[in-house]
Amino acid sequence: MTDRYAVIGNPIEQSKSPQIHLAFARVTGQDIDYTRVLGPLGQFAATVDAFRAAGGRGMNVTAPFKLDAYAYATDLAPSAQMAGAVNAMKFEGDRVLAENFDGVGLVRDVVHNLGRPLRGQRVLILGAGGATRGALLPILAEQPTELVIVNRTVAKAQDMVALAQQHQRSPVPVQGLAYAALAGRSFDVVFNATSASLTAELPPLPPGVFAPGALAYELAYGKGLTPFLSLAQQAGVRALADGVGMLAEQAAEAFAWWRGVRPDTAQVIRDLTVPLT
Ligand code: NDP
Repeated sequence: MTDRYAVIGNPIEQSKSPQIHLAFARVTGQDIDYTRVLGPLGQFAATVDAFRAAGGRGMNVTAPFKLDAYAYATDLAPSAQMAGAVNAMKFEGDRVLAENFDGVGLVRDVVHNLGRPLRGQRVLILGAGGATRGALLPILAEQPTELVIVNRTVAKAQDMVALAQQHQRSPVPVQGLAYAALAGRSFDVVFNATSASLTAELPPLPPGVFAPGALAYELAYGKGLTPFLSLAQQAGVRALADGVGMLAEQAAEAFAWWRGVRPDTAQVIRDLTVPLT
């Protein structure tokens, strides 16, 4: 029998998840159906209950429901606990197992797909929202020499430092700063985990933040050359990436968790890539 999966969000028509998971199913020979579910606001639990009652086996969760899914889950994996949010659920009888694969997806894209180890690198993250929170431990596990988080609202960057210090196993120096405090400092890998690019804005980065040979990684995807990537390019950065690989890798993690087989992501990434021009 065909197993049913879906992605829930509001809005949802923009989601690439059906395309990605159905492509994974084709190449791995898995018999699954994967659809979009528009969750009415305030009715997350009732909508998921109905999907489960109809035989649904698992769901991806996107905005604005990642916190609702966190509350709905019965079994939160450490990744979801750390992120404070859930992006994948698996239904087993009365149990709702919950994960957050965004952070591991990001790190896998950088280290595996882009061939850019984070070990020994000076890493800067712009933004201190959900994506940064989920990426914290996976990045620290790679043992960079230092991790700096900058945010418009500095207190949120400092909260991330406290969280990292509480959870990380082998300490890497972590700082939470204001953008202005970056003056005179440079980094080997700079992640833009702000949502500024979604409105074509640019975080107030001082010039010189990119070290020679740096990677500039925009977590948003499908936007081409965002203001952040454009700034990096003008600063001479040649290694530019957006979050399409992160999207594909977090999906592959969920697929493997559900189906026990990890799909190759290369074709999906090629299909979804929008040129960075
Ligand atoms: P949140 O809403 O949780 O956080 C947004 C962050 O952006 C906050 O730190 C906010 O700062 C900052 N910000 C917003 N506008 C500006 C601005 N104009 N200048 C400077 N900082 C700004 O978002 P998420 O963490 O969920 O998402 C962040 C990005 O990551 C988005 O672009 C999203 O599309 C992308 N993403 C990509 C994924 C992928 O698979 N590729 C998966 C998940 C996210 P403040 O706290 O001061 O308000």
